[in-house]
Amino acid sequence: MKKLTLTGYILISLALQVSVLVIRLVGAVITRNDALLFESFHIITDITVTAAVFAGIKIANSTRGLKYSYGLFRIEDLVSLAIALIIVYTALDILISLPHSYAHSSFEAALFEVASLIPLLSSGLIKIRGGKVLRATSLVSDGYHNYSDVYVGVGVTVGLFLSYYTGQVIFYYLAVILAAGAILYTSISVGKDSIVGIMDLPKDKKVVPKIREIVTRNRDVWEIKAIKARWAGAVIFVELVVTVNSRLTIEEAHNVANALEDSLKSEIPDIKDVVVHIEPSSSKDKVILLPVDNDGKISETFARSTHYKLLKYTGTVMTGSEVIDVRPQDIVAEKNALRVLEIAKNKGVTDVITLNAGKIILSVFEFNHIHIWKAQSQSVDENVSLFFHDGLERLLA
Ligand SMILES: [Zn+2]
Repeated sequence: MKKLTLTGYILISLALQVSVLVIRLVGAVITRNDALLFESFHIITDITVTAAVFAGIKIANSTRGLKYSYGLFRIEDLVSLAIALIIVYTALDILISLPHSYAHSSFEAALFEVASLIPLLSSGLIKIRGGKVLRATSLVSDGYHNYSDVYVGVGVTVGLFLSYYTGQVIFYYLAVILAAGAILYTSISVGKDSIVGIMDLPKDKKVVPKIREIVTRNRDVWEIKAIKARWAGAVIFVELVVTVNSRLTIEEAHNVANALEDSLKSEIPDIKDVVVHIEPSSSKDKVILLPVDNDGKISETFARSTHYKLLKYTGTVMTGSEVIDVRPQDIVAEKNALRVLEIAKNKGVTDVITLNAGKIILSVFEFNHIHIWKAQSQSVDENVSLFFHDGLERLLA
């Protein structure tokens, strides 16, 4: 059973469901019991839903649908909706005739119903197993639906047995109403799902929060502006609008988009396509780092400085400042560039103003999109003012 394909799992479960139908239909004809008739109609719905799930997964994995921008996935929604309407109509029609229906051969009917539960339970098992192995969530939920039908079947059986043993016709009616209620519930939920899909409303309310959680984990995404998810059959199309550092190159921004697409598709297998719209951060916040000496003047060295001044600005208004001290024993020639970079990244530094900077530090900061500007004097205030008036020259590796 390990090597079974999707087609294999579905064909086995379809065969099991067809045997459920045969047992119930034969029973309904022999006993003329309406509870069995309802249960037969119910399994017809379920067989069609399974076939639609199969078609949906097949279409999702075929290249033929790709001729169209959004594939042909909504065929599944349209078919399900049509089935749901037919079944609701049929169920209501039979229900209307209930007062004229009699408890025919309840004992025999109960035996047929019990017999039909064995292939039904097996069908549920096969679908859940196959759906989990093949990561097809719609097949798993179809399997759980079979399980819930087994509970209904047990209820119907109990009602029919009680009707036979007690001679009370009320138990027969209860059994029929349970069967009719289950079929109405199924068709309404199938119909609701397809209408929701056709109208671009969320089929599963947990998906967007899950997408948000996955996107938030990406450190290059600064802000999530919009998450849109659209269902077509069982597949999901996602659109994202995210803000990234405006200093990223087009290639780097594209890599961020690819990384988001990959992680979303691998964690939510129903996602068919992700479109990422990248916006540059419009943030006017600047975090400026300056190496300073004991007197608070700009230090002659950058990587070997023991103090750093951190100034936060929104626009040209200072919103915070801080001094970072480095222990002299931490200053190790070959590790200085990376140590300073670590400070800058942890503090969200956007710009550095310094008198000097070595080749290594220039290139690692450039790689991390932190700009380095050449100070004109040792005065912090004077250079920050020049920085905001475009009066400093940028140092490049
Ligand atoms: Zn069902």
